[in-house]
Amino acid sequence: MRIDIITVLPEMLDNFINLSIVARARKKGLVEIVVHDLRDYTEDKHRRVDDYPYGGFAGMVMQCQPIDACISALTAERHYDEIIFTSPDGQKFDQPMANELSLKGNIIILCGHYKGVDYRIREHLVTREISIGDYVLTGGELAAAAITDAIVRLLPGAIGDAESALSDSFQDHLLSAPVYTRPRDYKGWLVPDVLLSGNDRLIAEWEQQQAFERTQRLRPDLLEK
Ligand code: SAH
Repeated sequence: MRIDIITVLPEMLDNFINLSIVARARKKGLVEIVVHDLRDYTEDKHRRVDDYPYGGFAGMVMQCQPIDACISALTAERHYDEIIFTSPDGQKFDQPMANELSLKGNIIILCGHYKGVDYRIREHLVTREISIGDYVLTGGELAAAAITDAIVRLLPGAIGDAESALSDSFQDHLLSAPVYTRPRDYKGWLVPDVLLSGNDRLIAEWEQQQAFERTQRLRPDLLEK
């Protein structure tokens, strides 16, 4: 899989793609992540990529030309399954969407900034608009990182224990059960006995029951699905 991220702040994604599980997945060749500095594609001699909005509104708008040039350069090289724009008015990102995107071949993620991008980009080039929640960020980089992270950890081989990604919250419309590690007794705070019983059936039952109980208590909306 290949993910191309288009941004005016490439530095903001440097750490993200060079650390931890995402970096390991890249090294293993499970995913190629390429960050593009939008300013490299502008025809403006001052490297500007934004301009004042028509209509006299406040704020600045990202222009068509550099975005079109960058996307055209990429699509001339290979086919892309999705050209995603990160936007607070997009479809809300969730685990089923992450699962779906993790099966794609190549995707582009365009990060907005300022007041967003010239709407014609969204009409003519973007295939999908994704929001990471009902709040407004200053730019799409954190959204692109969240989407990429959620995708990458699903790629086979990205996280050590193959089953672990599937047992996480949301994968079966349930929150995950609590987890514990050593020591068994920390300041008198005890690990549930069943987890030390060695009885796989009892442990599986406990896990199911905990997942169900926590979902009912914390996220009853998930059970309606
Ligand atoms: N004027 C826009 C907000 C612009 S915020 C509006 O009212 O909808 C600047 C950029 O940050 C956006 O173009 C988008 O790329 C990104 N962004 C902000 N909040 C986001 C969110 N919740 N999810 C995804 N991207 C977001």
